[in-house]
Amino acid sequence: MTIEIAPGALIPVALVCGLLVGSFLNVVIHRVPLGKSVSFPPSHCPACEAGIRPWDNIPVLSWLVLRARCRNCGAPISLRYPAVELVTGLLFAAVAWRFGATWWTPLHCLFVAALVAAAMIDFDHQIIPNSISVGGLVVALVLVPAVQARYGMPWTQAILQSAAGAFVGAGVLWLVAFIHARVSVALGREFDHWPGEGESIPRPGEADYWLWFPGLGLGDVKLLGMIGAVLGVVGVLDTILAASFVGLVIGGAQALSRGALGEPFGFAPSIAMGAILTLFLPPLWLFRLF
Ligand SMILES: [Zn+2]
Repeated sequence: MTIEIAPGALIPVALVCGLLVGSFLNVVIHRVPLGKSVSFPPSHCPACEAGIRPWDNIPVLSWLVLRARCRNCGAPISLRYPAVELVTGLLFAAVAWRFGATWWTPLHCLFVAALVAAAMIDFDHQIIPNSISVGGLVVALVLVPAVQARYGMPWTQAILQSAAGAFVGAGVLWLVAFIHARVSVALGREFDHWPGEGESIPRPGEADYWLWFPGLGLGDVKLLGMIGAVLGVVGVLDTILAASFVGLVIGGAQALSRGALGEPFGFAPSIAMGAILTLFLPPLWLFRLF
């Protein structure tokens, strides 16, 4: 059962949808962590507050036409905006190419959009909003089994598969973070950001002992739950493995460029990259490399 669309139109349509969604993601990335509405007020220049006209808000193109400057005040517009639009557009096109005219294509477009937003917000603020991680998990637990069922999987099996992925994804990362915290405390390791200033190391009787860790946040755990609900048990394990490699590379590059090892950085960009690679590659793809 496929979506009705003219052959050859799917990938260009997905590309355009991705560019437009990317433009919306720029608003989400900027406003959601500040607790602001994504719909009001309409887009405006952060420097001069002038409203952005629709023809100056065309993904990527307007940025090129305006030569990266606000039409009203001439303030520079960051390369990030067209970059997020272009990356989202290309990811949507890639999803359409990989999954064709099936319901998996809109579902996985939604998935990569959530990953792009989570990665960028975590990069900026070292947080992942619950509206993306937990909200995405709830949506995934409904939509993924619905698509599986549409393509012939019994509902019970489809729901169990999705729930098991969420449980394993969140569970494995929680376990890693928990063990890391306990081993670090036992070895007397110190962290700049954990525990916080004037805070003592959490004890087993406190909720913090189970939910507050150095290095890895609970946001990462919840994000992996969402990813597991979409990619299933094997997919989420592939994601964690891939994210660890990507994280090592990013952490290493950062250490080299700043000359400091162990500086905190958001893990969500690595997780998002791992999940996207896993989405396009065969199961257990990392093991096939060796
Ligand atoms: Zn301006």
